[in-house]
Amino acid sequence: MSQANALAASLVERNKKYAAENHKPMPLLHGADGKLRRGTGVLVVTCVDPRIVPETFLGFRQPGFDPIALPVVRVIGGRAKHAITNIVGLDAAFGVDTILLVHHTDCGLTHNSDVSLKTTLKDRFPEETARVEELSFHPIAQLGESVTEDMQYLREHPLIKKDMTLRGFLYHIDSGLLEEKS
Ligand SMILES: [Zn+2]
Repeated sequence: MSQANALAASLVERNKKYAAENHKPMPLLHGADGKLRRGTGVLVVTCVDPRIVPETFLGFRQPGFDPIALPVVRVIGGRAKHAITNIVGLDAAFGVDTILLVHHTDCGLTHNSDVSLKTTLKDRFPEETARVEELSFHPIAQLGESVTEDMQYLREHPLIKKDMTLRGFLYHIDSGLLEEKS
């Protein structure tokens, strides 16, 4: 068994202990009135990086915390173009009034280019070169500017409400501070 498979098996096993010892049943999406509950209207968009946990750096983890109150879309780099389908879907389902978009220092997308990622994929799937060429991973050339670009993309997107509040940040992994960019 590979190291990854062994870890995966152990994680699945640990779920049983978690469920038995720590889990509390969660509130349902439908309220007592039978209607789908609306969220708080705040949505966080950030990176998949395991170091970047919005519930922690935004101080949102608290006893009795309602998991639908602060939905988080995590995509590589926190790039808006990767997240857009999730954003418009969540807005349609639960209502989103404010988006907090967070990129972060030392992001993997600053260390990889479309060319390097596509080369890896084309080596692995030589028959699928055309499909690979269609992709963009939206790598980050300039951190900070990447936030400004994403804010502009969202502001101009035809399916984002004109009165949506958009706030963009760079999260510094050394200090833990958010630096507002727009
Ligand atoms: Zn990242």
